[in-house]
Amino acid sequence: MNRIDTVVIGGGQAGLALSRSLTARGVEHVVLERGRVGERWRTERWDSLRLLTPRWQSRLPGWSYDGPDPDGYMSKDEVVAYLEAYAASFDAPVHSGVTVRSVSIDGDGFRVGTDLESWRARNVVVATGDCQEAIVPDFARGLPSDIHQVVPTRYRNPRELPDGGVLVVGASSTGLQLAVEIRESGRPVTLSVGRHTRLPRTYRGRDILSWLDEMGVFDERFDEVADLESSRQQPSLQLVGTPERRTLDLGVARELGIRLVGRTRRADGHVVGFDDNLVEDVAAADLKLARLLMRIDEHVSAAGLGDRCPEPPPFSLIDVDDGPATLDLAAEGIRTVLWATGFRRRYDWLHVPVLDGRGEILHDGGVTRWPGLYVMGLRFLRHRGSTFIDGQKTDAEEIAEHLLGRGRTAPRPPRHHIHSLIA
Ligand SMILES: Cc1cc2nc3c(=O)[nH]c(=O)nc-3n(C[C@H](O)[C@H](O)[C@H](O)COP(=O)(O)OP(=O)(O)OC[C@H]3O[C@@H](n4cnc5c(N)ncnc54)[C@H](O)[C@@H]3O)c2cc1C
Repeated sequence: MNRIDTVVIGGGQAGLALSRSLTARGVEHVVLERGRVGERWRTERWDSLRLLTPRWQSRLPGWSYDGPDPDGYMSKDEVVAYLEAYAASFDAPVHSGVTVRSVSIDGDGFRVGTDLESWRARNVVVATGDCQEAIVPDFARGLPSDIHQVVPTRYRNPRELPDGGVLVVGASSTGLQLAVEIRESGRPVTLSVGRHTRLPRTYRGRDILSWLDEMGVFDERFDEVADLESSRQQPSLQLVGTPERRTLDLGVARELGIRLVGRTRRADGHVVGFDDNLVEDVAAADLKLARLLMRIDEHVSAAGLGDRCPEPPPFSLIDVDDGPATLDLAAEGIRTVLWATGFRRRYDWLHVPVLDGRGEILHDGGVTRWPGLYVMGLRFLRHRGSTFIDGQKTDAEEIAEHLLGRGRTAPRPPRHHIHSLIA
């Protein structure tokens, strides 16, 4: 059996960022990766994907974009190249093609079993990703077999779909982007909409994310927000990265001829049923956006930037009605349902008592109640930006510091985690 101070599981941006922070602190470690560096960007993303975050917003510990187009948006291949170059920059100890099959307690450390060999480690950091497995609602099983069902991790481009119309379920960043791509390939598209976060691509002359970055929105800390659980449940941003800095929202979708319906609730044969939430959810997203833009305007005034920024454009509300309560897919010529309904995580290999009833890792800013076991890359792990590439810059440094401090002081499990494990 191999012995090492720390095993990091996962060679995506989170695992690599932590590896860089551990390297800088002289902590002996390995990164075990079932595929290759950035595997999910290679094999689980659609062909046309570009990041919705600008290139400059990819700062990692000791690494940032220094190419010619910082305001543009990386393709998925560029993300892979970016991560590979990052790993090479500090000779990251990545063991590729090694799948972790079990992590169990072994004295004051852990035993990590893989499909190749075993490791004994004092610390284990789980960096296996927030977006691991696409969620498909149970009622999808009620759809007949002549309806092709696909999830974003398997979807590649519209040409691979059967002829006919497409129902895209979910209107956050993935669902809206894919609905538009499929519609622009010439097919009829229906988009099922739940809670969502509307954002313009640019505002007052700048990328919207540049304002949010400057205002420190992504730096908001997990131990400062009023309702962390609800912040962790926020829908992803309705943004797309295109050279022309296109805004994507439900108004744009409708102008393209995409039919909007409410949240998908049930399927019975070819008949799919929807909630009557559309008006309410669209109004809520509009209100939230209006508040955010006001905050940006206040920031512009407070920073004395008013003279250098264009005036705010008039705010346009998105006008919708609740849409149909049901649709008969066969009658409508819809042959495909694309489930863009979020992701779940699986830790069935993790035999340490840190999982809640839903199988999610309980943690306090990435620190679990089990000394030496950490998690990285989850939503709002330590900051609002924790699932973004850019969010790793502080998370990795802080987790590495905590891990290093473990040798110096005996850590105590955070009290509320003990409570939630018992409750
Ligand atoms: C469609 C989509 C678009 C996104 N767009 C953006 C964007 O524009 N900007 C942005 O900043 N973020 C974006 N994100 C969010 C985030 O950057 C990605 O989800 C990113 O892949 C997360 O990196 P990670 O390192 O946390 O996890 P992952 O990239 O998922 O890496 C985890 C790694 O762990 C490995 N692994 C898993 N299980 C095991 C095991 N048992 N043993 C060994 N290895 C294992 C996997 O192979 C994988 O390589 C997007 C996410 C999605 C899904």
